[in-house]
Amino acid sequence: MLNSLKIWAKEVLARCDALARVSESASELTRTFLTPEHAEANRLVGGWMAAAGLQTRVDAVGNLIGRYAGTDPKAPALLIGSHLDTVRNAGKYDGMLGVVAAISCIDRLNHEGIRLACPIDVVGFVNEEGTRFGATLTGSRALAGTFNPADLDAKDSSGISMRNAMTGFGLDAARIPGAAYKPQDIAAYIELHIEQGPVLERADLALGIVTAISGASRLRVELTGLAGHAGTVPMGQRRDALAGAAEMIGFLERRCTGTPGLVGTVGWIAAQPGAVNVVPGSASFSLDIRAEKDADRIAAVEDIKAELTLIGVRRGLVLAITLLHEAPSSACSPRLMTALEAAVAQVGVKTMHLPSGAGHDAMAVAAIAEMGMLFVRCAKGISHNPAEAVTAGDVELGVQALYSFIREYKHDR
Ligand SMILES: [Zn+2]
Repeated sequence: MLNSLKIWAKEVLARCDALARVSESASELTRTFLTPEHAEANRLVGGWMAAAGLQTRVDAVGNLIGRYAGTDPKAPALLIGSHLDTVRNAGKYDGMLGVVAAISCIDRLNHEGIRLACPIDVVGFVNEEGTRFGATLTGSRALAGTFNPADLDAKDSSGISMRNAMTGFGLDAARIPGAAYKPQDIAAYIELHIEQGPVLERADLALGIVTAISGASRLRVELTGLAGHAGTVPMGQRRDALAGAAEMIGFLERRCTGTPGLVGTVGWIAAQPGAVNVVPGSASFSLDIRAEKDADRIAAVEDIKAELTLIGVRRGLVLAITLLHEAPSSACSPRLMTALEAAVAQVGVKTMHLPSGAGHDAMAVAAIAEMGMLFVRCAKGISHNPAEAVTAGDVELGVQALYSFIREYKHDR
């Protein structure tokens, strides 16, 4: 059994390499929504699906779906998926690994003549990343029936709208509602994905069971003080907007440290007028606060707003805080977590629970089905980067665990 799996892991990695060659750029991997490369990836993966015994189709939004029929025609489907699009200058495993791993598992079931009662749908989602048009999770939202039609007006850097790009791709935006599954037609959704963080590597574990996809709050902070001469305004008489921002960032870091599952980041900052000899008169920065538990995130955001207000008042800075984005946490199904744990135990390795700080298609599918995620360790936690790496050994374990999960899957309702 182990030997055959080694061959299968080799196949999974070779397919990730093959997909990495389907790129809009000769020098790096970039494959975005509704491009010829999107169509080419669907053809390539569709061929692997067909060879594994899956019946393929492309849905109204461009998702590639392969069905492995079950024995009970009335049973709701087990969905296994991830995305086939990439960021710019991407790694080879973010998204793709989950799709090709699922295909290899089905191929094996097919070879062994095993069928579940329920059908299995392997889904290669479009546009999880939002690289071309900004709007994210397009494929999984369409599948969940939560696609936002306003996204169709989003334009790429050449001014082409998503709506027109769909037409050029041979799809009809008006048909997108038809891509939605009914909740009663999905038994569960499972996604295998690289961790995209360093936690599993630090814990010396190949596989992790995701507890929840963290909720997120994004805010913009704008500070207005008074610009002045860097040589003449005494320290005690300044209204330095950037020094105020620095104190605020220090508070954010302290406030978000020590609560498990809570993280806070200032990823962008700007100061004006931006000259070496001028006290900054204004500054703006971003806040990104995420947590496994919504209550932890909401409490942190409230504390940070309150402390920033105090710092602003003390320093004579006018403060404006704007909420840009807020998404609640999506909990993984306890039933599926238990089943994934059993599958990892069958493989014979230890595992751990961890939240996903990154968003995934699973959080969109969670609107209509219970979902679970299996993380595979990646080197140094690096992702969204060509240096993204996994080991063949970890992939073997991941595919083996996913296979065990599928084989033992029983839908009780
Ligand atoms: Zn991804």
